[in-house]
Amino acid sequence: FAFFKLTVTCRLAVSNRVTPCAVLISGLTIERFCMTGGKSPVGYLTAYLTNLYLSADSEKVQEAIEAGIASATMFTANKDVAYSDTQLRVAFDGDAVLFSDESEQIFKEQGLDKFFEHEQLNENKPLAQGPLKGFLEDLGKLQKKFYAKNERLNCPIRTFLVTARSAASSGARVLKTLRSWGLEIDEALFLAGAPKGPILVKIRPHIFFDDQMFHIEGAQKLGTIAAHVPYGVAQKYQKSA
Ligand SMILES: [Mg+2]
Repeated sequence: FAFFKLTVTCRLAVSNRVTPCAVLISGLTIERFCMTGGKSPVGYLTAYLTNLYLSADSEKVQEAIEAGIASATMFTANKDVAYSDTQLRVAFDGDAVLFSDESEQIFKEQGLDKFFEHEQLNENKPLAQGPLKGFLEDLGKLQKKFYAKNERLNCPIRTFLVTARSAASSGARVLKTLRSWGLEIDEALFLAGAPKGPILVKIRPHIFFDDQMFHIEGAQKLGTIAAHVPYGVAQKYQKSA
């Protein structure tokens, strides 16, 4: 995001019909550019050192995720919401977004009680990384530019974890996982199954990433720009639902 005039840059690739990205890239000079005559640009993304790929085309996004690139399908928000123009605010779901879907699989296949049991048993075992972990890491590198003597100064980037996990029973594992990766998140919100839309209204992120369409739809209804990460066991359940 050259917008922040940093020496470290974050490479954002967007493809056709991604109007919400204007919010993210207003004032940004686009220098690397490719025209692919309707063919998928996904094969070029690694060569372009892409940190995040956003598209309205879910098939291309799926292809990018499979190629190991942080990627999401964009949807337009239903309402006009005012966003901060001095701070980039990025909100992430946890399971199957920052983290792998290993715990989500337990939840979907064996239910909530087994999930709680599993997470408490494995509290000290870090989760494997999910498709957007690298992007959080990239944002963290930019944030480090705003540290002086180990104290964070007023930072133009703020990150949020917005998870359906509950603090008491299953939250500890995700916080310990982030710590084991050496990654910080500015705010962690544990909703214990409550809808994400209302809390996102308060956060006002420029973009919110989730792997489950019902969270995307809930966010959109209340005006949040949401992006779907097509990864993990929830995709199978969405298709059969
Ligand atoms: Mg999830």
